Amino acid sequence: MKEQINLLVKLQEKDRVLDRFRRQIREGPERLQDLEKELQTLEEDVEADRRRIQDLKKTQREYEAEIEDGLAHIRKSRGRLMSVKNNREYRALLREIEEAEKGNADKEDTILSCLEELETLGRELEAKEKGLSAMRDRLESEKTAVSKEVARVHEELSDTEKSREKLVQTVAPQLLAKYEQIKARSGGIAVALVNNATCSECHLGIPPQMYNELQRQDTLRFCPNCQRIICWKEAETSA
Ligand SMILES: [Zn+2]
Repeated sequence: MKEQINLLVKLQEKDRVLDRFRRQIREGPERLQDLEKELQTLEEDVEADRRRIQDLKKTQREYEAEIEDGLAHIRKSRGRLMSVKNNREYRALLREIEEAEKGNADKEDTILSCLEELETLGRELEAKEKGLSAMRDRLESEKTAVSKEVARVHEELSDTEKSREKLVQTVAPQLLAKYEQIKARSGGIAVALVNNATCSECHLGIPPQMYNELQRQDTLRFCPNCQRIICWKEAETSA
């Protein structure tokens, strides 16, 4: 029985390793996905800045053209001032010129704020583009690293699966069935080691009587709290 208990401890160790390998195989691509999402957010941000810059430049060009038109209109109106016949027409023309000048001044203000925003955005965009390029490089090197790592872990996984297969053949079928049953309902861990009268999985104390019996290693015993198979810590080291 002692030998069989030791086999279960070994089996649990293999299963832990297998779980770790499977997790590593999952986590690599997940990490890449996270990076890709980050990259996409950054790209969208840069794209939005570029669109905003185009819009601002368009507004600037349109307003500059309108100011030119306004100036031409003002020049024409001033020319007409010489030839007006009466006071009423004269005042109306003056008002027209004043309004055109005010309109131009407003547009100049808008152009100025466009230019200020363009300057700020230009600086920000430059920094963001640098960040984007660094992020792309990082993603590329991560991709290489992850695919290498996944390939390596796959190999280790398949080696470990093979050695588990061999190990399983040496375990008594009813013990193996019990092991698999407990493993399935206890988060993948069926065997807990007991050290200093404490279950290594649920961290609760094992009653002294049971702890003493455990050291005999003559039969399967279960943690009174988490119901896992418990083994005396010594079982592992003497295995
Ligand atoms: Zn326990």
